[in-house]
Amino acid sequence: MNELADCALCPRGCQVDRSGGKVAVCQCGRHARVSSYFPHFGEEDCLRGTRGSGTIFFSGCNLRCIFCQNFDISWQVEGEVTPPERLAEMMLKLQARGCHNINFVTPEHVVPQILEALLIAVKDGLQLPLVYNTGAYDSLESLRLMDGVIDIYMPDFKFWDLEMARRYLKAADYPETARQVIKEMHRQVGSLVFDKAAGYSHTVTGIHLKLKRMRFWFKHDGSFYSAYSLAQALGIDPHAVTRWIKSGHLKAKFRDAARGPQQKGDSYLIQEKDVRRFILQHPTDIDLRKVDQLWFIDVITNGLVRAA
Ligand code: SF4
Repeated sequence: MNELADCALCPRGCQVDRSGGKVAVCQCGRHARVSSYFPHFGEEDCLRGTRGSGTIFFSGCNLRCIFCQNFDISWQVEGEVTPPERLAEMMLKLQARGCHNINFVTPEHVVPQILEALLIAVKDGLQLPLVYNTGAYDSLESLRLMDGVIDIYMPDFKFWDLEMARRYLKAADYPETARQVIKEMHRQVGSLVFDKAAGYSHTVTGIHLKLKRMRFWFKHDGSFYSAYSLAQALGIDPHAVTRWIKSGHLKAKFRDAARGPQQKGDSYLIQEKDVRRFILQHPTDIDLRKVDQLWFIDVITNGLVRAA
């Protein structure tokens, strides 16, 4: 935690003593502040899977984007002051809820706090892949603290144009900084490559995520599919699944917390037994050339693949 005493954790280089409670651009002192944490079904498809990405939204931000969609979190810094034990507890709760990963959103200014909490969480059983979901205004030094810790980097790149960066982010050095840190992210984890059978496959990161996804698919013990995840497994457009539901051919129920189309979410929960019933009653609607073959055999045989 020494980095906090004269903070230069990000390119702003404020050099305030955050360990003593002082704050500067990011408005964050000794402890992280968390606005919310929950299984997120509006994240990128490959992260949300079928049980959501375990997002932890940090309050405060070292960028000052005038277009921020989370103004109340980033500028007004709403949220709970979160000592390391509490942050670790949040991660473990997300894991217990079946999330596929822990997704740190806006972590640039709380890297030491995340590491401090991970020591506790990992000791207490955290095993999920870790996602670093950043505006890409990081310092190389703080990213190197994460080397070997983060599985997936997700830089949310903003502008190449200096004048736009100056005007809209108050950070004229953003393009060059982002260029360097994204290279560092790539150096740490390598590129991602998609394959047809189970999503990512590349490097330890890719294999890790792939195995997590496969583990869900083959051991999910009656968990629910979304219309989107079922469509992925069947190799078809999600609208086709929605049509089956609306016509009454495929049984589904509404999710409690429905997410709108703008969040790329869908509102349906479909039980595996209802998927099996649909396939058996409507075999001509299934294109066997497109389905994920292991998944399909497992569903049709009621878990024989899982048992094998
Ligand atoms: S992390 Fe916050 S206090 Fe530290 S340099 Fe960046 S903006 Fe300033």
